[in-house]
Amino acid sequence: MKLAARAKEISPSPTLSIDARAKKMIAAGEKVINFGAGEPDFDTPEHIKQAAVEALHKGMTKYTPVGGTPALKEAIVRKLKADNNLDYAPEQIVVSCGAKHSLYNAIQALCDPGDEIILPAPYWVSYLEQIKLAGGRPVIVQTRAENGFKLTVEELEAVVSPRTRMIILNSPGNPTGAVYTREELAALGEVLLQKKVTIISDEIYEKLIYDGLEHVSIASLNPGLKELTVVINGVSKAYSMTGWRIGYAAAPAPAAKAMTDLQSHSTSNPTSIAQAASVAALTGTQEPLRQMVAEFNRRRDYMLERLSAIPGVSCFKPSGAFYLFPSIAGIIGRAYKGKTIGSASDLAAILLTEAKVAVVPGVAFGDDRCFRLSYATSLENIKEGLDRIGEVLTSVK
Ligand SMILES: *Cc1c(COP(=O)(O)O)cnc(C)c1O
Repeated sequence: MKLAARAKEISPSPTLSIDARAKKMIAAGEKVINFGAGEPDFDTPEHIKQAAVEALHKGMTKYTPVGGTPALKEAIVRKLKADNNLDYAPEQIVVSCGAKHSLYNAIQALCDPGDEIILPAPYWVSYLEQIKLAGGRPVIVQTRAENGFKLTVEELEAVVSPRTRMIILNSPGNPTGAVYTREELAALGEVLLQKKVTIISDEIYEKLIYDGLEHVSIASLNPGLKELTVVINGVSKAYSMTGWRIGYAAAPAPAAKAMTDLQSHSTSNPTSIAQAASVAALTGTQEPLRQMVAEFNRRRDYMLERLSAIPGVSCFKPSGAFYLFPSIAGIIGRAYKGKTIGSASDLAAILLTEAKVAVVPGVAFGDDRCFRLSYATSLENIKEGLDRIGEVLTSVK
């Protein structure tokens, strides 16, 4: 069968494929330590599950409005006001099948073929593929560890052109854990406002933030920026609800309508009972979230200390999400058992076969001198995994 050109262009998600390989080895009885996970290792809190069970028994099993139930939209409107100081009307909210779907809708609805979309690297894998699917031209800007992997105003000014349509910002970021401050966002916002660049602000890791830092939505800085921004968020990461598939966008009314119309011809509404569960997630107790963040914080600190002690490895201290993104620049060009390590991909392959440790090579995020380690796994696994990584890396000559 002949494939469409757009299908041939897509690369499968490399983060999901490493995860799948590791899970296959685990299923075959091998003791693999998996640092590839892109989801919290905690269960969905009980009160959230209970809300879904109740919805099921109440017969909430039919189509809902395409862009989400009134109850969930109301909960999202209140959340955006309380947490982000953002005022939206319910018709400016679009609930979709995960934040990934919200991003897809936004890019499809707002990008024309040939438009330039600025994408700071390291970036989350799906942004690039979604830009390509819309016919957009990704303009990748490599950020630097010395700047905390954050795009600077100078770097932004060097790439904005009359063809620039959009920029994708992700704070706290995956894979780096970088968190932009209010001042940094304001400085970038000034340029974006002047050039009228649409901003996609992926805030899915908003709640997973450490060291007393504050999450700031660029849309909240001034009304002009709010008019340019689509805020993307969801329940997957904060409430351990990755499998429920609920994400949302908040946008100026015409953009929200376009996204809803697009969705009406693809998935229609996201799952009805998952929407009911998401109301409970947003309006119920936030105690499970607090406990999860405290645990992630402990794991991050431990992992950072252990990694930094390995010669040739240097690691930026992330302030959000649940990943570390160490550089192995000091190891590249050296050899393990006579095999040259030319990139993080080479090292990831060695770690999986020799140490049975799964990490995601940075090539997936546009930087193959680094790899991503998720600390969404137990402290016990983290200790064992780092022992194994350390063993392999001490044999690198
Ligand atoms: C996990 C993730 C998403 C997608 O979340 P879902 O709601 O599960 O679709 C979006 N953006 C980033 C940066 C992520 O890491």
